Amino acid sequence: MGLERAEILTWLQETDESRLEELWRLADETRQNDVGSDVHLRGLIEVSNRCVRECAYCGISACAPKVERYLMTREEILDCADRAKACGFGTVVMQAGETPAISREWMAGIIREIKARTGLAITLSLGEREESELRAWKEAGADRYLLRFETTDPELYRDIHPSLPGTVSDRIAQLMGMREIGFEIGTGVMVGIPGQTWETLAQDIWTFRDYGMDMIGIGPYLPSPGTPLDGELGRRLRVRAGDRQVPNDPLTTLKALALTRLVCPRTNIPSTTALATLDPSSGRANGLLRGANVIMPNLTPAQYRALYQIYPGKAGLHETVDITVARIRAQIEALGRTVGQGPGTSPRMKGKA
Ligand code: SAM
Repeated sequence: MGLERAEILTWLQETDESRLEELWRLADETRQNDVGSDVHLRGLIEVSNRCVRECAYCGISACAPKVERYLMTREEILDCADRAKACGFGTVVMQAGETPAISREWMAGIIREIKARTGLAITLSLGEREESELRAWKEAGADRYLLRFETTDPELYRDIHPSLPGTVSDRIAQLMGMREIGFEIGTGVMVGIPGQTWETLAQDIWTFRDYGMDMIGIGPYLPSPGTPLDGELGRRLRVRAGDRQVPNDPLTTLKALALTRLVCPRTNIPSTTALATLDPSSGRANGLLRGANVIMPNLTPAQYRALYQIYPGKAGLHETVDITVARIRAQIEALGRTVGQGPGTSPRMKGKA
């Protein structure tokens, strides 16, 4: 279904429940026609919470108060990858704060080893990295890279994501470089960050389409106590947005997700942990019913999971991996969907898009 740019803005602000039923139906129908009933499971490994960035929203940023820092060992990471294989997942996702503690050679060695012993697809989400690192990791066997551009509003971006001294952060340019290197690329935004207007969010969704992203993650912004965005900066940005401020609620997140499915019909879209955190009873299922076709179960060992608190109360924080995976599989089946087999590669990479 072709959607005009102006329609995105209208749909985002729609409040009539019967009209919204139509949006949910269209998104679910498009998901079924374009990517089918499979839900791909990607095993998430939160490799480190060390970070040099001062992102104003994030609970593990360098400016976040009193965080105990960790870096998983190579053996611990490899154990998690083996676990992903044993669980029948097709992909592992290694995510971390942006840190030089994750060196080019160390990560390349881990990627090579995971590939050799599991054959799984490997996704990286390690922040903004040097081209030489990205090339080395691609050559070692990594397949995909996730880097949310967070917002298309340049002023808001500068406010919430300060550049490192002497550099200018340009995540779209980074993503294009990654694609050039051969990665499937994934991006996304948070819904309802202070300062985000309806117009900005509509432009974000339109931008997903413009760049033909392979993966798009959309979750609600969840205030992280003690971060600048949860304090004075957030108040100032809300005033700036005025009555155009987007709320960070489940409904608006689901509208953004459904609209993203309509403008990017063949993209892999997760039902995010942030949505499941905000709406524990039905967030995950509603995401799957309104356009999503991916879930990322958390495989991080319990002692580290508790320290990777990008926002408080993360869903599944106190569950064992076995329980998380069993619950997610049951949820998928209850919706009449199937667990995807294999790596769940982007249609664009298969030359079909
Ligand atoms: N350091 C890497 C990066 O910046 O891409 C990966 C880790 S970062 C924690 C992953 C994503 O978490 C960010 O892109 C952001 O959208 C999301 N995130 C961070 N803080 C959040 C918050 N308070 N609420 C919701 N999502 C958040």
